[in-house]
Amino acid sequence: MTITELFRQTRPYVRPYRPLLLATLALTAVGSFAAQVNAWILRYTVDNINALTEAHKTLKDGIDLLVFISLVLIGKELVYAIVQFGQKFYGEKLRIYISRDLAQTIVERILSYRMAFYTAPENESGKLQTRIDLGISSLTRLVQNFFVDIMPLFANSIVALAFMFNANFYVGLVGLAILPIYFYISQLQARKLGGFRRKMRTYRENKSNGIISLIDSITVIKSFVREPFEAEKHKDLQFSMTQNLMQTRQLSFVFDSVKGFVEQFGVVIIIILTSYFVLNGNMTIGTIMFHILLFNNVSAPIRQLHRIYDEVNDALINAEGYFEIVQSESEVEQSGSLRPTIDGQFELRNVNFHYPNGTQALKEVSMKMEPNKITALVGLSGAGKSTLINLLDKFYEPSSGEIYLDGTNLSAIDTEYLRSKIGLVLQKNHIFKGTIAENIGYGKLGATQAEIETAAKQAYIHDQIMLSPKGYETSAQQLSGGQQQRIAIARLFLKDPAIIFLDEPTANLDAIATEQIRKSLDAIKKDRTVIIISHSISQIIDADNIVVMDNGRVVEEGLHDELYDKQGTYHDIFSAMANSLNIEKIARTMN
Ligand code: ADP
Repeated sequence: MTITELFRQTRPYVRPYRPLLLATLALTAVGSFAAQVNAWILRYTVDNINALTEAHKTLKDGIDLLVFISLVLIGKELVYAIVQFGQKFYGEKLRIYISRDLAQTIVERILSYRMAFYTAPENESGKLQTRIDLGISSLTRLVQNFFVDIMPLFANSIVALAFMFNANFYVGLVGLAILPIYFYISQLQARKLGGFRRKMRTYRENKSNGIISLIDSITVIKSFVREPFEAEKHKDLQFSMTQNLMQTRQLSFVFDSVKGFVEQFGVVIIIILTSYFVLNGNMTIGTIMFHILLFNNVSAPIRQLHRIYDEVNDALINAEGYFEIVQSESEVEQSGSLRPTIDGQFELRNVNFHYPNGTQALKEVSMKMEPNKITALVGLSGAGKSTLINLLDKFYEPSSGEIYLDGTNLSAIDTEYLRSKIGLVLQKNHIFKGTIAENIGYGKLGATQAEIETAAKQAYIHDQIMLSPKGYETSAQQLSGGQQQRIAIARLFLKDPAIIFLDEPTANLDAIATEQIRKSLDAIKKDRTVIIISHSISQIIDADNIVVMDNGRVVEEGLHDELYDKQGTYHDIFSAMANSLNIEKIARTMN
């Protein structure tokens, strides 16, 4: 990303605050003139006192002069204080507003992205978070530095330089000549540091991602006693990061020293030059001070120049990450515009699907699922069953082939509308931090307490909720797995979709919990189009149609008895499931 690009991209975020920006700029302009007053007053004082001493006058004769100088200096400080306050405050306000907008924009933006964005390896949650945080903080720092710190200094510098030229062309020229040298050094510094910064960003991303995955895997780490191993892995990262940081610092300090030297060199030349003019009688003695103070004003922002280079470079690298995320048009979820009435007949024609990492999860899948019927997807793990549901919900688009819902191509249907008609129950349903009522209410924003309770009753969880002292205000995350599943089903009753996808809804539950949620599952399945993935024999046998998948393909389709008699894949899977139950022994016990 180039600087012009950076400014072009940042402009839309600054645009809404144009009045604030103009106020800041106006104050900066006033401030830059006020900043030169000291130089003028010093020259005026030295020259006048000098004249008084040469005329052998006493303090009494200089009293008017002192009063005048004091009044001007105090008056200037007063103005300067007000201007600085306004300038800093408006600048800060600008920074805070822009930071808020950047953060809000990216959240709204990534919410609109398709599923593949979230599952891409470079967008693992820790990495994404770091990239967003760094992008926002360095962009806002850039805005702040620019408007609060750097711009006033540069304005001072330009005004001071103009005064220097106005007072003496040659002295002005010396002041001006220093600038390109500084720019050159700062640019060199920035270029040398760029590589280190980029590396640092990767280290930081890996580091925060590393800690997140450490916490996620802590049970396994501890049970295998791999703490030293994990610590060592982390140490390597820390050490490389430290080394990189040290090199960055070392380089910065070298450049800082060089710049300090060049600046002092400028001061020396100004002293020599002005002294020469004074001795020649072309300048008053006060003018030496005048020029030194002005030159200080000229070089002050230049001392900060590497900082702005640093900030801009940080921003160039980090903002790239931010804008890349905000602007990935290709990630925006595709939506059609049709909103047909939906019965729930799905038809797949020659559907192939590859995940972003290249895994082909579906191969030439063609099949139909009838409305108001229960279709069970059966197959070994990895066969492509969940993928199929992901495609029907438009979380992903087929790589080739078509999917139709009631005769309309799925890609032409409004995605939001489609999803409002589909309910999804997963192996582990997400329970948000919050109360039971809030979690059920997520199914229909603005649902009344009565509606929430009705839904809970339909999902057979109401009685249990009422047993806990806080009732519907209990924290939902405290509930057991089976109870959480029923909360998720209650949520679906509120949503009341025509189509239900159940992806191993009982897989994580023990037998008793499975038995308990069976009633809620039966209730939610009633009068809807249901597609169920399950390893539970009872749920499979009940289905109106069974689709057997193997390695991304549909290999068999039909009713339980027919499929079993075929002695194919279904027969094998079913027999394995039945054997694992040890039915003979169970039967004996039950008898
Ligand atoms: P099933 O639900 O039948 O167990 P899946 O549909 O989950 O099978 O997976 C089918 C194939 O797709 C598997 O090989 C799996 O590894 C792969 N797969 C699933 N999800 C992803 C993903 N997000 N990225 C890449 N590959 C995936």
